[in-house]
Amino acid sequence: MATVGQWLRNKLTPPSLEEIEHETRKWQIACKTCGRSANLWEAGGKRYKAHGNKTVLGRCAGCDNKLRTMKIYRPNE
Ligand SMILES: [Zn+2]
Repeated sequence: MATVGQWLRNKLTPPSLEEIEHETRKWQIACKTCGRSANLWEAGGKRYKAHGNKTVLGRCAGCDNKLRTMKIYRPNE
């Protein structure tokens, strides 16, 4: 069992880049217009300790880099 001190340290330590990459790679980003999807990390995004789907505006390579509504989601959930 973690002590309060350890818990606080875990809370206050910023995540390493490896942890952020590991978390971000679990997410996919998909264009709502053409359906093109990519791994969020490879698309240049970051998502850490997040829950639930999110809708963002982004440029879609499948739509001539036009601004599109994109959905960030976790496959298999
Ligand atoms: Zn698109």
